[in-house]
Amino acid sequence: MNALISVSDKTGILEFAQALHALGIKLLSTGGTAKLLLDAGLPVTEVAEHTGFPEMLDGRVKTLHPKVHGGLLARRDLPEHMAALETHGIATIDLLVVNLYPFEATVAKPGCTLEDAIENIDIGGPAMVRSAAKNWKDVGVLTDASQYAGVLAELTADGKLTDATKFALSVAAFNRISQYDGAISDYLSSVAFDADKLSAAYVPERALFPGQSNSQFTKLQDLRYGENSHQQAALYRDLYPAPGSLVTAKQLQGKELSYNNIADADAAWECVKSFTEAACVIVKHANPCGVAVGADALEAYSKAFKTDPTSAFGGIIALNCPLDERAALQISKQFVEVLMAPSFTPEALEVFKTKVNVRILQIDLPPGGDTAWKQGRNLIDVKRVGSGLLMQTADNHELALADLKVVSKLQPTPAQLQDLLFAWKVAKYVKSNAIVFCAGGMTMGVGAGQMSRLDSARIASIKAQHAGLSLAGTAVASDAFFPFRDGLDVVVDAGASCVIQPGGSMRDQEVIAAADERGVVMVLSGVRHFRH
Ligand code: 5GP
Repeated sequence: MNALISVSDKTGILEFAQALHALGIKLLSTGGTAKLLLDAGLPVTEVAEHTGFPEMLDGRVKTLHPKVHGGLLARRDLPEHMAALETHGIATIDLLVVNLYPFEATVAKPGCTLEDAIENIDIGGPAMVRSAAKNWKDVGVLTDASQYAGVLAELTADGKLTDATKFALSVAAFNRISQYDGAISDYLSSVAFDADKLSAAYVPERALFPGQSNSQFTKLQDLRYGENSHQQAALYRDLYPAPGSLVTAKQLQGKELSYNNIADADAAWECVKSFTEAACVIVKHANPCGVAVGADALEAYSKAFKTDPTSAFGGIIALNCPLDERAALQISKQFVEVLMAPSFTPEALEVFKTKVNVRILQIDLPPGGDTAWKQGRNLIDVKRVGSGLLMQTADNHELALADLKVVSKLQPTPAQLQDLLFAWKVAKYVKSNAIVFCAGGMTMGVGAGQMSRLDSARIASIKAQHAGLSLAGTAVASDAFFPFRDGLDVVVDAGASCVIQPGGSMRDQEVIAAADERGVVMVLSGVRHFRH
């Protein structure tokens, strides 16, 4: 068995090479690595000697040779491949140990010159890793010192690596190459290139937000500023955005979208897309302050606006149905930041012609009726934490009527069930703790983002009062369970006649008993919709 070792980071390599040698594995190695091993008394053949070709161009060409790549890529199960090796006097290479020039560490250093960065782009290393990883059935490829011990244990025990191990090593190798190339692409994309300053000492300016794509995202635009004016920001989209998602929007008129506009527009659009009937969602500061369904855009908007006309001022309005002139005339009476719909009649657009600041976004909803909106959903949610990422599958749970569990003595009427499902749908898009009062397909009071559920309940009912809405007989959704009966008492005092909540509290029995005592319907959803 032949092993080729070529590592920049030489940590642990001597011990590993000694162990390979002890197992009878022949060692091939590049300049610096070979020297280290030879100095320790290990018998090593230099790649230059093996290929009959010297390392050249300051190490830019070391292993880029058919004797290396043929030995890595030949399929041992194909007689033609093995015959070709024989013809050309090429020996197989069965184990490859490579770690790459330290590109990431180099560019992370303050004052890194462009030349330094470029010289630290490894060429032959990734090429060998790709060859070996492609031919994983025949070659074990190690790209990180953390893999040495496991591979050694397996070689010592069995004299060879299992297919499972070789496949896992190949996957890890391609991941490493992709990460490495991503770092190169990110770095070069961020360089504000200045031809006049080119010299060996040239330290390029780096843009905070890379100008071009890396492997995941492509830049749509720089934004004037971030959440606040002292923050810089840019908008990127997935390389392949889902149909019906916000980033596919066409802006038909209005001022440039701001960071907060985009964040709020997304919240509104995701919420409105979840309705199959004509719906309108008005968002302020990432929370819906009015949501309603209706026969058409006008009715849906008018109802949504009634929930909280004060907050709707300067809001982001999303409709999932065509916007016609009647609805446009009504909407134009309020100050609106962003207006979104799948389509606009020419007359509707005419209404906003004079309101040049209003940003109008047209977003195609993919055809498919009931399931259309689902196509545009993110599968993964990402949140940045200090030097890390939190990732989770997106909250794409949908509640069906059949999932509901009535736990109160009082049974819900069909109208109450409808209101409860509507309230539940809205609560999913309200920041936690969320309490949402609804009736007749519209929100009647929204309590969002409080640290105590009790306060969210109080705020929702205060807001309803301010809007002049009566909460008598309303349906209430709570995004998470009531830890005590006090939250329930507040919503019932405000007028609620039925409540939907996940259940699962230690005090469920106490809360359900309170619902019975107060004579209201209680329904459990069995799922929670925290949104932070
Ligand atoms: P050494 O210290 O052994 O001289 O060099 C090891 C480094 O060279 C490893 O990081 C390996 O990926 C890299 N390397 C191996 N072959 C080539 C090549 O042909 N071109 C370049 N640019 N780097 C190579």
